[in-house]
Amino acid sequence: MNTPAPAASWDAKLDRLAEVAVTVGLGLARGQELVMTAPLDAVPLVRRITEHAYRAGALLVTTLFTDDEATLSRYEHAPGESFDRAAVWLQDGLAAAYRAGSARLAITGANPALLAGQDSGKVSRANVAFSKASRPALELITRHEINWTIVAAATPAWAKLVFPHLPEDQALAQLWEAIFRTTRIDVPDPVANWRAHGAQLQSRVKLLNDKRFYSLRYKGPGTELTIGLADDHLWCGGGSTAKNGIAGFPNMPTEEVFTTPHKDRVDGVVTSTKPLSYQGTLIDGICVEFKGGRIARATAKQGEAILQSMIDTDEGARRLGEVALVPHSSPIAQSGLLFWNTLFDENAASHIALGQAYSTCLIHGDSLSKTDLSAKGANESLIHVDWMIGSGELDVDGVFANGESVALMRRGEWV
Ligand code: ZN
Ligand code: ZN
Repeated sequence: MNTPAPAASWDAKLDRLAEVAVTVGLGLARGQELVMTAPLDAVPLVRRITEHAYRAGALLVTTLFTDDEATLSRYEHAPGESFDRAAVWLQDGLAAAYRAGSARLAITGANPALLAGQDSGKVSRANVAFSKASRPALELITRHEINWTIVAAATPAWAKLVFPHLPEDQALAQLWEAIFRTTRIDVPDPVANWRAHGAQLQSRVKLLNDKRFYSLRYKGPGTELTIGLADDHLWCGGGSTAKNGIAGFPNMPTEEVFTTPHKDRVDGVVTSTKPLSYQGTLIDGICVEFKGGRIARATAKQGEAILQSMIDTDEGARRLGEVALVPHSSPIAQSGLLFWNTLFDENAASHIALGQAYSTCLIHGDSLSKTDLSAKGANESLIHVDWMIGSGELDVDGVFANGESVALMRRGEWV
């Protein structure tokens, strides 16, 4: 009889998460610098990641911490003109670091509902100011000039939102376990598991790319939608190789395959299946009608004012920049949890994103000018906001240019 190995301790799992983030997620190369951003509560993970990064040969690790209480203090005490401000110098510095070859690791975990009670006008002005300031750095990220990844750390405020009925320490422990499980850390060999998972997603990507669909057709409760795919669209997923030649996984966890929709060929009605946490505010029960690719009507049961100001950010904020397919059997969907965090929730369900398209999801997209990208149907915007439209009741068909179609998903699962 085999004696089961004792369950790994929290410390051991935290260390494995850090190791997987550095070696598999970032693929950090000897001689690279690393820029990390993290909430204050993520210090234990930051320290594990820093050690693994130096062990992997990082020349310098620089971490920028954010603090929820300091953010709230701004909303409570700062003068009105504060909300059109962003630290342009800092964002320019980040862009300079990426141009010089630094890798980028973001730890997510801030309270998703931090700004829920704040003035929506201030929130959206601050968001616009931040989006504008971070544009140069974000472009380097979305063009995948460097290797980057996002991982999560459980924090007390986030845990309270996910497990509202548990005492704080139990909620925090449960959220950590959920992160370890869905990020595939809680397995005997997480590195090998990640490589196998990536290979499986890549075979799905190849299959979809071979089909050259003209559009996707969605049918589910509150949803009857056709999404045209951009000319020369490329399906992506299962990790990617940055322009610096380094292969990694930009999101941990990741369960999606995704591509670029055509910004002018989206028609019909779509209803969200999970709440969306948009920069500190919750938006729930979204229902949107598209005509010729553009949002003609948008409502939400909760957070509608924030939704309206989000889609008013610029012309591209009313059009789609990403379409992603995720089976309902994904470990995140199966956890049955609502994480209130896009990194997790977007990997629980098929989703679409309003705003900026990824040029990497087009054939030779990186070498195309803005005009060429636009001509192929790739959208441009200051925002990129994913929201969930998948469920165990969603059917998706792939439609060819000649009008014939094949079933891709039935009741949320791959056919
Ligand atoms: Zn996505
Ligand atoms: Zn996205």
